[in-house]
Amino acid sequence: MKYLSTRGDATPRAFCEILLEGLAPDGGLYLPETYPRVDAATLARWRGLSYPQLAFEILSLYIDDIPAADLRALLDRTYTAATFGDARITPLKPLEPGLALQALSNGPTLAFKDVAMQLLGALFEYQLGRLGQQLNILGATSGDTGSAAEYAMRGRRGIRVFMLSPHGRMSPFQQAQMFSLQDPNIHNLAIEGVFDDCQDIVKAVSADLAFKQRWCIGTVNSINWARLLAQVVYYFAGYFQATGRDGGEVDFAVPSGNFGNICAGHVARRMGLPIGRLVAATNENDVLDEFFRTGRYRVRGSAETHATSSPSMDISKASNFERFVFDLVGRDAARTAELFGPALSRDGGFTVSADEFARVPGFGFVSGRSTHADRVATIRDCWQRHQVLIDTHTADGLKVARAHRRAGVPMLVLETALPAKFAEAIREAVGFEPPRPPATEGIERLPRRFEVLPADAERVKRYIAEHCGA
Ligand SMILES: *Cc1c(COP(=O)(O)O)cnc(C)c1O
Repeated sequence: MKYLSTRGDATPRAFCEILLEGLAPDGGLYLPETYPRVDAATLARWRGLSYPQLAFEILSLYIDDIPAADLRALLDRTYTAATFGDARITPLKPLEPGLALQALSNGPTLAFKDVAMQLLGALFEYQLGRLGQQLNILGATSGDTGSAAEYAMRGRRGIRVFMLSPHGRMSPFQQAQMFSLQDPNIHNLAIEGVFDDCQDIVKAVSADLAFKQRWCIGTVNSINWARLLAQVVYYFAGYFQATGRDGGEVDFAVPSGNFGNICAGHVARRMGLPIGRLVAATNENDVLDEFFRTGRYRVRGSAETHATSSPSMDISKASNFERFVFDLVGRDAARTAELFGPALSRDGGFTVSADEFARVPGFGFVSGRSTHADRVATIRDCWQRHQVLIDTHTADGLKVARAHRRAGVPMLVLETALPAKFAEAIREAVGFEPPRPPATEGIERLPRRFEVLPADAERVKRYIAEHCGA
């Protein structure tokens, strides 16, 4: 299997060549040359597999430069009941006949990003070990991504993490989660500024190519292909749990921000998994809902990006969206390059016509948006009707899923975080404190390791250089 760029660079690259990369050199995103097709007989054979076995079958179709035994061992070590709280890794939680949550957030940081990030950590360590190289991961976080990255990379050989966060602005739980890590390869840099300052520093450091090369700076952002690939697996796992041997279609509702999670569903469907509809759920930041309703993709400025009670979906442009659009326009790289290059910067967006949508079969997407009032009402209703407590992001998914139920087709709502992470909205909805998983009990009282730095890229560079010794 070789990989190409959505903007036309067709240099054939193997999986491990793009593993540690972000964007392709032409500014596009990497995708496989083709999606491997899985037939009914293969699906039937996969039905009885454990999660790591299933992950091995799927990843083997996309990775031909890691020996099978190594890949298998790496997956067996990653997807364990010890890390994810259940041997099924992403078990279903039934709500009512034909409607269930798929639990993706029982990993170490209580959000679905762990499922992919834990694998990325293992793959990075493996590949860096083979190359005899080191990697210094530089990132900016307002909460979820940073903690998932740190818990995935802690203690890994050849890897250091420098994670910038806005000083004093993350939730107390998120601060406790990140700052209590004592691993010497994890560096928490609390920046005196807001999240945008942190992101600007990451951009400034990455733009200094000499520094970047000298100190082997890399990232773990959501456009990484391996992260997306890891997420394809749980669509299969969910499908098998929701259906019997006779199969049939399943719909998935996905709380969406950067379009990574739902894009993995798109890939699973292109592979032949019988997904009926993919339901994109947004919060008040409804870039994606607008697109699926009107065909218009309109990026928002920061003044138009609202801070909501489902903060991990507060995005103004969806960084993985280019992958989907590339497929939607028939893999026309010149067209994709025009849409995401000149059209975006000139017009702040673009329109895909209804004809274009209709030409390509098997792109059954629907969408909806959800507001703070919807979240609170949905959390309360789900608790009262089913005695299941959900977080604010999952509530956006459930609210929109209910609007798109189809008779006879099971609907799975991806649970993207646990309520313990968003206690304030939970209290507002149900009037009590969400329960804490035992492993996170009392983390606020643990000793903390972090460094406060001014919002100054030069100061951050100096810190990195001082802490990359030998
Ligand atoms: C990241 C995140 C999302 C959005 O996922 P995308 O892949 O960016 O669409 C939704 N919910 C939670 C809890 C998240 O952390």
